[in-house]
Amino acid sequence: MPFIEAKTVSARAYDVIVVGSGAGGGQMAYSLTMEGAHVLMLEAGRKYDPATETAMFQTPEMAPLRGSATPEKPFGFYDATIDGGWDVPGEPYACASDEQSQQFKWWRARMLGGRTNHWGRVALRNGPYDFKPYSRDGLGFDWPISYEDMAPYYDKVEMLVGIYGSNEGLENTPDSPEGCLLPPPKPLVSDLLVKKHGAQLGLPTIACHRAVLTQPLDYKNIPAKLHPGNAFAQDIISRDMQRRNPCFWATPCGQGCSIRANYQSTTVHLPPALETGKLDIVTDAMVAEVLLDKTGRAAGVRFIDKRSGRSREARARVVVLAASAFETVRILLNSRSTRFPSGLANSSDLVGKYLMDTVGSSLLGQIPALENLPPHNEDGATWGHLYMPWWGYQAQKAGKFPFARGYHVEFVGGRRLPDFYTMGGLEWLSKGSYGQKFREDARRYYGSMISFAGRGEMIPNKDTYCEIAPEAKDKWGIPVLRFHWKWSEHETRQAAHMQKTFADLIAAMGGRLRKPPEADGARAIEPGGSIIHELGGAMMGNDPHKSVVDKWCRSWDVKNLYLADGSVFPSNADKNPTLTIMANAWRVADHILDGMRRKEL
Ligand SMILES: Cc1cc2nc3c(=O)[nH]c(=O)nc-3n(C[C@H](O)[C@H](O)[C@H](O)COP(=O)(O)OP(=O)(O)OC[C@H]3O[C@@H](n4cnc5c(N)ncnc54)[C@H](O)[C@@H]3O)c2cc1C
Ligand code: SF4
Repeated sequence: MPFIEAKTVSARAYDVIVVGSGAGGGQMAYSLTMEGAHVLMLEAGRKYDPATETAMFQTPEMAPLRGSATPEKPFGFYDATIDGGWDVPGEPYACASDEQSQQFKWWRARMLGGRTNHWGRVALRNGPYDFKPYSRDGLGFDWPISYEDMAPYYDKVEMLVGIYGSNEGLENTPDSPEGCLLPPPKPLVSDLLVKKHGAQLGLPTIACHRAVLTQPLDYKNIPAKLHPGNAFAQDIISRDMQRRNPCFWATPCGQGCSIRANYQSTTVHLPPALETGKLDIVTDAMVAEVLLDKTGRAAGVRFIDKRSGRSREARARVVVLAASAFETVRILLNSRSTRFPSGLANSSDLVGKYLMDTVGSSLLGQIPALENLPPHNEDGATWGHLYMPWWGYQAQKAGKFPFARGYHVEFVGGRRLPDFYTMGGLEWLSKGSYGQKFREDARRYYGSMISFAGRGEMIPNKDTYCEIAPEAKDKWGIPVLRFHWKWSEHETRQAAHMQKTFADLIAAMGGRLRKPPEADGARAIEPGGSIIHELGGAMMGNDPHKSVVDKWCRSWDVKNLYLADGSVFPSNADKNPTLTIMANAWRVADHILDGMRRKEL
């Protein structure tokens, strides 16, 4: 049961339809099929095979414009994204306001595996505080579950996917049990410099957690921990783990990884799920709406077969939406009926409300101590050997910060494979040198820059939401979303604080700034959507009047409809969300399997 034609699905009976094949959909399909459920996955993008299509070994000078970013390829010519980006031809969306500060930029990936083919692979656990933010400071919403509920699934995802990192015993920065994490790679010289001077400022610098194999996975012991009592699943995943290679630290992860050393849904979740023989995948299948039966239960979905342009239907006992947070919201809002005139699962009127992204701000420093270093191998991990987890929990509780929630710092230095811009814009240092002098300057400054980026918590607010735009439709005839976006002062002040922290760090290292830190938070903060951590819009909760889904991410209104992406997040901790999306999807999958065993689904 592998990739099948769209026209064949209406004749088949499935246990579960999973919409979307990214982190949420991939994890859901893996967890369900390994435990015996028959699954149909519908994916709007085209089939993508990382083993044959990844431009892993292509270097910038082999590409037009030496691989530089263009509007079609915003992360460079060889970025793994296919048919996606900030603009997807024929699939528009709208922003309600023309105000710069109220714009939302929506990144979408239209390909098998979604955004997991080119994500940054930073994979941090939410901490205990992150599940109960309202209880701590009275802002936003608590999750209906605690860290203890999610922890066993974090363990399992870390073991399955392969995450490097270390346990440091820091506040709200959870340690993983023995055997979950892989050893982290050694720090670069620039990392060590940041760590040394960060410590002088009281900032902790520890190993980053990233979904990259630093060594082969323990294929003998992990399978039994992932699938206790299930010899069939253990055998499949054990063999699959042996087919994954560890990283050789030389190619940009954003181009994808054909040797399966990092996590992509296409290299980690889908191959073993397909091997069970219980997964059918239809690509180029754009789901338009969820269909209901006469009793009001989900009967299946209607989708557009993009190859033929025809509208088709698929049916199953359970429907799971994991199309990325805001696409899931869009499907719900477009699933209107006399029973649900304002969209499916929307009796709370909360579908599309309380959208979130991550607060982002960055600053570049040039560090004289890193000039003219003798040549050495600095390829390493594409992004993040070390990072700084948020350090201010106690000071924040004591009211010493002008904003409510924290941020962590990601940074990158060292010599990367040069591209078109590597030596561009050096005038602020070289003062316009040319010829032999510019050659010397280029050598001198190459590898002496460190870029700092803050990743902070956005508190959900009622002014940040989306709705169906009146009359506008995409090229498949499906109504599109219109976004309303507003940062609160918690976020803008946090962005200004990031700028000051980065400037202090660069100064402590004896470095220079290309431009002064931005003190105005509204200017320091990157536009909504820039960090590509779309979350919220169908919050989970304990009260059907105040949430869209229950703690199992099951619709309060439609008992066999589940959500398995970031749409269900009631808050967006500073921690990058994808590990939590996967852990939660596995948790939800277990609940669905239980329900099917008990014949409740
Ligand atoms: C450049 C970049 C860097 C990132 N770095 C990090 C990072 O370091 N750490 C981190 O935690 N996160 C990171 N992210 C975010 C991360 O990629 C997402 O959190 C994650 O992929 C979300 O998984 P998902 O399954 O919800 O959505 P996606 O991965 O986007 O998958 C959704 C899939 O659903 C499909 N789909 C959409 N609509 C429909 C429809 N109507 N019918 C059928 N299929 C549909 C899409 O085509 C897509 O394949 C990054 C993202 C980008 C783009
Ligand atoms: S650096 Fe490692 S994980 Fe990343 S693409 Fe290269 S081999 Fe794969």
